[in-house]
Amino acid sequence: MPKSTLSPAKFSQALLDWYDQFGRQDLPWQHPRTPYQVWISEIMLQQTQVSTVIPYFQRFMDRFPDVKTLALAEQDEVLHLWTGLGYYARARNLHKCAKQLLENYRGEFPTTVEEVSTLPGIGRSTAGAILAQSRGVRAPILDGNVKRVLSRLHSVEGWPGKKPVENRLWELAEHYTPDERLADYTQAIMDLGATLCRRGKPDCNACPLNKGCSAYANGNPQDFPGRKPKKVLPVRTTTMLILRDEQGRVWLEQRPAQGIWGGLWCFPQTETTDEAGEALKARALRARTVAQHLDGFRHTFSHFHLDISPLEITVQIQGTRDGEGQWVDPASPGKLGLAAPVKKLLATLDSPRQSRML
Ligand code: SF4
Repeated sequence: MPKSTLSPAKFSQALLDWYDQFGRQDLPWQHPRTPYQVWISEIMLQQTQVSTVIPYFQRFMDRFPDVKTLALAEQDEVLHLWTGLGYYARARNLHKCAKQLLENYRGEFPTTVEEVSTLPGIGRSTAGAILAQSRGVRAPILDGNVKRVLSRLHSVEGWPGKKPVENRLWELAEHYTPDERLADYTQAIMDLGATLCRRGKPDCNACPLNKGCSAYANGNPQDFPGRKPKKVLPVRTTTMLILRDEQGRVWLEQRPAQGIWGGLWCFPQTETTDEAGEALKARALRARTVAQHLDGFRHTFSHFHLDISPLEITVQIQGTRDGEGQWVDPASPGKLGLAAPVKKLLATLDSPRQSRML
């Protein structure tokens, strides 16, 4: 099978010429392209598209304009500004990383890939992206877009989640990374993957690399990169207790820092609806109405499906202890980081004013 014959010099020249004409040069994190701005954007962009990220990025920067402000913030507020982006471990790591930068590096990013990639939530590719884009360091990157471009260009077989395949792609990334215009090159190769060398229907006719692309020559770009072997996700179930006080407010509790939805605010959960009575008792609450089943739905994590059955109960408070949770207005829950299904459920609930007064 023919592989790409493009030399690194021709590769980067073709890519940069294309970038100068068509690349994205007005993204908010490019002005100014500081390590802090690039870092926040790179973390937000993992698993998330540019158009979704932009408003989150802007809100985040308004509230946390630098490492110090972020490091000194409450985790709740960081998670609150992340609500809706998903993959909350990213936000918790971001916060942890800001603290480490403040404590160990006076709030500045270190200058080598080796050091940056030891920080929480930052792998080799993100470290490369931060240093190449903000400081012009010659550091290759290998995010999902770059994996797609390089695996097509060289018809690299196999799923990039497998170490030998990933290693081969890193070799190629290293091979093609130029010595100059690192910031633009890094943005250019990500842009090419996002806009032309798309997962479905790549626009090969418009691609500046098409003359040297093996998959294009073979007519099979969509075979690359190799797919992840499919596995059937297990299904778990949970009951979410929507406990409402006499004013219609709902009771939320903060999840432990580790595990699913770590640090986020959630409805109390039980394995089955039968355990609701026990759960009320444990919280010094008493049911005032018959429990009402709301429509259930499925939330899918990367490693399992969670079938959620919401159960709404109006309760009487019998002296709940402090510090275990809080009563919130479902229409404006305040600055809390919320698990996605909780946010979804809150949006379907009546606000206190409209709720049934008993
Ligand atoms: S020619 Fe097509 S498959 Fe090859 S890099 Fe360009 S867009 Fe991707």
